[in-house]
Amino acid sequence: MKKIPNTDVIYEFSKSNSPVLTVNPGEKIVFNTLDALGGQIKTERDTMESIDFTKVNPATGPVYVKTACVGDALVVEIEDINIGEKGIMLAVPGLGILGDKVTIPTTKIVPIVENKAVFSKSIVLPVSPMIGVIGVAPAGDAVPCGTPGDHGGNMDTKDIAPGVKVYFPVFVDGALLAIGDVHAVMGDGEACGTGIEISAAVTVKVDVIKGFQIKRPLIETKDAFMTVASAENLEDAVKIAVEDMVEIISKSLKISFEEAYMLTSAVGDVKVSQMVDPQRTARVKVSKEIIRLFS
Ligand code: CA
Ligand code: CA
Repeated sequence: MKKIPNTDVIYEFSKSNSPVLTVNPGEKIVFNTLDALGGQIKTERDTMESIDFTKVNPATGPVYVKTACVGDALVVEIEDINIGEKGIMLAVPGLGILGDKVTIPTTKIVPIVENKAVFSKSIVLPVSPMIGVIGVAPAGDAVPCGTPGDHGGNMDTKDIAPGVKVYFPVFVDGALLAIGDVHAVMGDGEACGTGIEISAAVTVKVDVIKGFQIKRPLIETKDAFMTVASAENLEDAVKIAVEDMVEIISKSLKISFEEAYMLTSAVGDVKVSQMVDPQRTARVKVSKEIIRLFS
């Protein structure tokens, strides 16, 4: 299996990035990823002020996938996320939705012991590894890895976890996939701006669906599809994700906009992915019992 070291990183998704690896559809790849702070926080004495901001939010890659052309979809199946031995959390003045209330910059090192995250002596959490940053090169200007968009990127969507497929629009030949910012566990919204940030080895299988045109990332779990959208504010992100879902339902069930709109309202769950990045991300989940995209 092809492996990419965590030294092959990008800090922005861009069509100008040179691929570090070229693969065929159907191949598996291991992305070794740094944590979102670029591995710079090593002890609880290290704070956000003490680090080099140009080294924040690295994503490993990019990978050129042969046959992936503009107008196709790239399918990334998350097979495994093997997390490192310790995670990091930060409470930083100005960071997250209550950043104005943080007076003491606080760093927490969270050891991972037997698949549990040791938040404190008395608070131990089961890990549920997920990928914060995953995306392809956008069509236009480069986008920093910390910003989510139609190309994916920093979506901080906790469903992007083992057993799930993520579909991306291909904006440039080869797609140029990159992955980073794994969390040992994160809640919807990522309130304080950090999950349990951790290094990882992420195993994925890539594939290409010729001529499958989507505008934005789409998630397929065992039992549901989710549209994912990012925008300047949460309400706009929700609106786009709902609109995408209504369109998918309308097309796949061959029903009118109004029927699909009502059906989405009846069975679609709107969820907040994150509300702390430069653009906000929301998703809409609908059971596979309602829509079948690929059968
Ligand atoms: Ca993130
Ligand atoms: Ca993160």
